[in-house]
Amino acid sequence: MSDAKEKTRAEQLREELCRPQKHASELLSAEELAAADAFCEGYKAFLDQCKTERECVDYYVKKAEERGFRPFEDGKEYAPGDKLILNNRGKALILAVMGKRDLAEGVRLAAAHIDSPRLDLKPAPLYEEKQLGLLKTHYYGGIKKYQWAAIPLALHGVVIRRDGTRLSVAIGEAPEDPRFCVTDLLPHLAQEQMQRSLAKGIQGEELNIIVGSRPLMMDGKSEGVKLALLQLLNERYGLVEADLLSAELEAVPAFPACDIGLDRSLVGAYGQDDRVCAYPCAEAILDCGSPEYTAVVVLADKEEIGSCGNTGLETNYLQDFLTELALARGANPRTMLRHSKCLSADVNAGFDPTFPGVMDQHNASFLNRGVVLTKYTGSRGKSGSSDASAEFVHWFRRLLDDNGVLWQVGELGKVDEGGGGTVAADLARLNLDVVDLGVPVLSMHAPFELAAKTDIAMLRKACGAFFSA
Ligand code: MN
Ligand code: MN
Repeated sequence: MSDAKEKTRAEQLREELCRPQKHASELLSAEELAAADAFCEGYKAFLDQCKTERECVDYYVKKAEERGFRPFEDGKEYAPGDKLILNNRGKALILAVMGKRDLAEGVRLAAAHIDSPRLDLKPAPLYEEKQLGLLKTHYYGGIKKYQWAAIPLALHGVVIRRDGTRLSVAIGEAPEDPRFCVTDLLPHLAQEQMQRSLAKGIQGEELNIIVGSRPLMMDGKSEGVKLALLQLLNERYGLVEADLLSAELEAVPAFPACDIGLDRSLVGAYGQDDRVCAYPCAEAILDCGSPEYTAVVVLADKEEIGSCGNTGLETNYLQDFLTELALARGANPRTMLRHSKCLSADVNAGFDPTFPGVMDQHNASFLNRGVVLTKYTGSRGKSGSSDASAEFVHWFRRLLDDNGVLWQVGELGKVDEGGGGTVAADLARLNLDVVDLGVPVLSMHAPFELAAKTDIAMLRKACGAFFSA
């Protein structure tokens, strides 16, 4: 037997038995790559307009209304093809398209979150120290605090004035706008700071944002800068200090989304966790036509702090909505939920060659190798995970293969290296089948995160396939 023949046999076996992980460039034609890039132009524009959950909700309410979606009404019976919006307090959103099948056969639900880590202003934020005006913050979500110093910040949010009128704020986005900034210590005087652990390089109470430095008057008395800033806020926005106490103001990175790399293959931007999943999910339902099964997208708030509160998925708004839909059509809501299939769309940690040590390379996800199917998340022995069943993961892998979606598996780092969770566990509580599917991201939770354009386009394709399955 010759060597050549042996090799052929091995090659044959490899073809029959192995699953080679392909790079998107091997699979996609030049036209398909161009289409992926084009899809990400819309994505980048969305990122620049939507840096908070409220802005994401406003964006998709408007876009959905233009596409024929109408506000959902309790108790109303909807017919196949009807398109519904449920706006939960301006911070979470459900979009649905009624399917042809009986609701008791289940719905197709895709969930992604639209909140991202950031610096929230404290209830009494404004103070002055040595003729500098500053804002106190309390960070939101899991951040490495040192990353938020010495970068330009924008202020977003909502202030309700005493008379009940409402002010939407986004200062620091237009080119001519001022920006804001957390300061860091110069290296010359940072001997003590440099000995701190990375976790304490910048500490929570050091995340103070500079907002001004010109006092109203130089009368030797303190607080001239604070007074000048309050005067500015009053003249421009009709605010007084007490209005800040009830406000919801957030500092987010002020730079826009951009292409990364000479080949422009990646998107760099703030807030890609989880808008990189929210965008493909929402775009897919807008385009889903008249589906077989009722299609539902939920864009959730508060995932980054545990899905708590009345706009997080720990509460009942999604279940209540689905129950109302079922009851109005005479379907048993519990039967519907039990037969429903859910795609929990969230990012996973992409393999970073600079930090290979935290990954099991056999189970890591890689940029440009397609969407990541994550069977379980959690930490310390899968704790806190919903752990999808073999049956359901199989259903999904068939769906992805049959629709030409490039996919890979992924785990969030090595066993016992750390861990995390998604809304999958909250959704599993509804007694439906759910698995995580998303996009691998580098520098997750940093003010500037990276994702590959082909993976983002693949998630759009996966969501489209899911709603037509
Ligand atoms: Mn996420
Ligand atoms: Mn996150």
